[in-house]
Amino acid sequence: MRESRELSMAFEGADTKETATTCPYCGVGCGVLATPSADGLSAKVEGDPSHPSNFGKLCSKGAALGETLDLSERLLYPEVDGVRASWGDAMSSVARGFAETIKAHGPDSVALYVSGQILTEDYYVANKLMKGFIGASNIDTNSRLCMASSVVGHKRAFGTDTVPGCYEDLELADLIVMVGSNFAWCHPVLQQRVLAAKQARHTKIVVIDPRQTATTQAADLHLAIKPGADVALFNWLFWKLAQSKAFDASFVGEHTDGLSDALVTASSVSESDVEALTGLSASELDQFFRLVAAHERTVTVYSQGVNQSSSGSDKVNAIINTHLVTGRIGKPGMGPFSITGQPNAMGGREVGGLANQLAAHMDHKPDDLDRVARFWHAPRMTTGVGLKAIDMFDAVHDGRIKAIWIMATNPVVSMPQADKVREALETCPLVVVSDVTGQSDTAKLATVLLPATGWGEKSGTVTNSERRISRQRSFLKPPGEARHDWQAICDLARRMGYSGFDFESPAEIYREHAALSAFENDDSRDFDIGADADIDDDAYDAMAPFQWPKPADRARPGLGGRADHRFFADGQFYTPNRRAQFLAAPFKPAKVQPTEAFPLILNTGRVRDHWHTMTRTGKTPRLSLHFAEPFLEMHPADADHLALAHAELVDVASPQGSATLRLLVTDRAARGQVFAPMHWTARFSSNGRVDALVGSAHDPLSGQQESKFTPVSVTAHKPAWYGFGVFQNEPPAEILETLSYWSLARCAAGWRLECAGRGSASAAERGLLGRDIDVSLSLPGGHCRSASFDGQNLHAALAISAGQPVEIDRAWLSGALGAPFDDAARLTLLAGRAAEGMATGPVICSCHGIGRRVIIAAIADGAGSVEAVGAATCAGTNCGSCKPEIAGLLAGEMDPAVAEPIAAE
Ligand code: SF4
Repeated sequence: MRESRELSMAFEGADTKETATTCPYCGVGCGVLATPSADGLSAKVEGDPSHPSNFGKLCSKGAALGETLDLSERLLYPEVDGVRASWGDAMSSVARGFAETIKAHGPDSVALYVSGQILTEDYYVANKLMKGFIGASNIDTNSRLCMASSVVGHKRAFGTDTVPGCYEDLELADLIVMVGSNFAWCHPVLQQRVLAAKQARHTKIVVIDPRQTATTQAADLHLAIKPGADVALFNWLFWKLAQSKAFDASFVGEHTDGLSDALVTASSVSESDVEALTGLSASELDQFFRLVAAHERTVTVYSQGVNQSSSGSDKVNAIINTHLVTGRIGKPGMGPFSITGQPNAMGGREVGGLANQLAAHMDHKPDDLDRVARFWHAPRMTTGVGLKAIDMFDAVHDGRIKAIWIMATNPVVSMPQADKVREALETCPLVVVSDVTGQSDTAKLATVLLPATGWGEKSGTVTNSERRISRQRSFLKPPGEARHDWQAICDLARRMGYSGFDFESPAEIYREHAALSAFENDDSRDFDIGADADIDDDAYDAMAPFQWPKPADRARPGLGGRADHRFFADGQFYTPNRRAQFLAAPFKPAKVQPTEAFPLILNTGRVRDHWHTMTRTGKTPRLSLHFAEPFLEMHPADADHLALAHAELVDVASPQGSATLRLLVTDRAARGQVFAPMHWTARFSSNGRVDALVGSAHDPLSGQQESKFTPVSVTAHKPAWYGFGVFQNEPPAEILETLSYWSLARCAAGWRLECAGRGSASAAERGLLGRDIDVSLSLPGGHCRSASFDGQNLHAALAISAGQPVEIDRAWLSGALGAPFDDAARLTLLAGRAAEGMATGPVICSCHGIGRRVIIAAIADGAGSVEAVGAATCAGTNCGSCKPEIAGLLAGEMDPAVAEPIAAE
């Protein structure tokens, strides 16, 4: 049912005009121009030159958005207990379930778990329903996993959750310090802006990261800090700056409190202890200090490497301390800068989508509760904070929460202790999941499954990392019976008998949201978009991207006379006495340390071309070329010690769970540390959910999990055989289940499969290829190649090697699927090598499909710069996301940054 494509109904009347909208992936928030195809199944996508966040640029993910719009795997109809239902019946089940649970067990027995992928208008009504009408605060969001520590840090230092600066500061800075962020892969368009500025004005870049990454390649100084030691480093820097010429006595004296206590704490660790804690030499520390002290225009960019920690909030404040002590905040080219991972994490923070926020940057204080209750005419206002994500799923697990609605997110993959989350949902009496797909690990556990609209169909607003609110506009009609999230939530509210949810459009919701932001504000709160409280529908439709605040009276005091650019230029903060607070942040080691049984530290993160749990990016062949399977980076010395070889499969274990991953032996990983991406789900791999490994340790204030420091063990998987295959049809699940490992990725004409088994290889071969094997070849040493054809065209091919990874040009074979093969070419196929000149090697440039061999050949022919490689091959000439990898190849780093385990070249 879910696979059906009622195209004429779904896209009847699809409007093929160009629509200005916003990318749905990362927190950069790039403007996109989308022109749908006549059938509405794809779109031409370009960067919006007029959008001030990206000025026309897109990264590889954004550029491939048009390939994610087909209806494969779309959820088109509601289901109750696995059976198609009408919206009326499905929502009756939800309303009845919520109402009866609340009646029997109280309002804290239900929860909403929402997402940084939904729009601000969706978020607003969900928060209003939970906190004003159900009367609890159990609404939390996957943004908790992304940036909750920054929220705490901002509030402690500034009195409010304010990002002071803007992207332009990255171009005006003389020094950019990037902490815990693989910026080049996670925020590629911003990295392109940084690199352009570096070229134009010689901006210095310091990258603080335990790993070598595409970002460290562009750094003037890479500080390979020990995991979790950021507070020790920034406390030391803070103390040194306080004694240097960079100390801004007048700013500190006029606009801050708490310096003495913070300095006492910061100076309590000796410099030699700082060296030991951080793993940095005295010389590296000195270089870092000198760079920061010398450059007034310093921006410190930080991201998940800072936030996702049991001391994440303290890390944020340790960074902010260095800016307060130098007065480097609120002015062009300087300031602490939290960059969010998700497209609308900031919008969620604005409406109060975290369980410990109320609404519109108000908290659970008596005055705020009273104010919001009056504004909403709320009959049952919440009184206290709710359960943060980890606590929320613990409460589901132990039965305190008995009904949960999960919206546009996949906690069975993305939450720490992911197996425990799955267990919790398996036993929860009512699990409502609204999403675009019914195939996610979480959707498969739903009692009620609701089809939601996705990018291209949704309409509303999002806020990016620089406080810029942009319109996400629809250009496709919802397929099947998909509905907007705000419509579904309002439907539930009305069915539960609540007034105040009769919204007809997102514009109406936005007006109420804007009005609440201004309600009894008078500059007591930073978030104020009161100028839009009366915006009409046409103006909402035409809204240009803008940075908040946007108060009705833009000239009022407290905004430094610049109502739309930077905060705190006037030294006025949002604490009770308007002074910023230094925070004494003692260094605390990660809560769970390595042991003999779990000796390695696992760091998790993202890859360049995938996003979250791959619901969208997993649909596009070209985004699956860069990394086609889950992997584990490990230092060569650790691999030697464990007798593990590059490209073999390994089992990774922690006290919480396990994963089976491809081993990439590389000195990008530091000794004693391993890295794995967090994207793979049960949809695409047998055991690739790395968040099953991550434990319950979290920051006590922000509730954010420790994703960068999980003690693990790594052992050889030791299958009897390895396989690699390409198939026009997706291999059946019942065959995959017989394998000890599999990982699927889309390629242009079908699927590519990495697999391994402990049973009979020939049984797996028969299962995967069926009985119609047209050509087959057994080679000495347990190697076997076989293929089937549809007429002349390659229908499927499988290579199996006994006891060792298959050596074959995977990119070539994937590209050969569906292509015609004459008898001679079939022999080439069995040899597993491309004909001369056809092998390109693993793909580096996703936009143009340029492989590593092609780039290396261009370098060998004399291309001596990234630009010259681009001119010779086109690589890097579209979105530019691959430029760091091309630079790496130019620098002689032939270790592939792609997961082609063994490329026969
Ligand atoms: Fe989208 Fe890439 Fe821009 Fe992020 S940097 S918003 S993923 S196009």
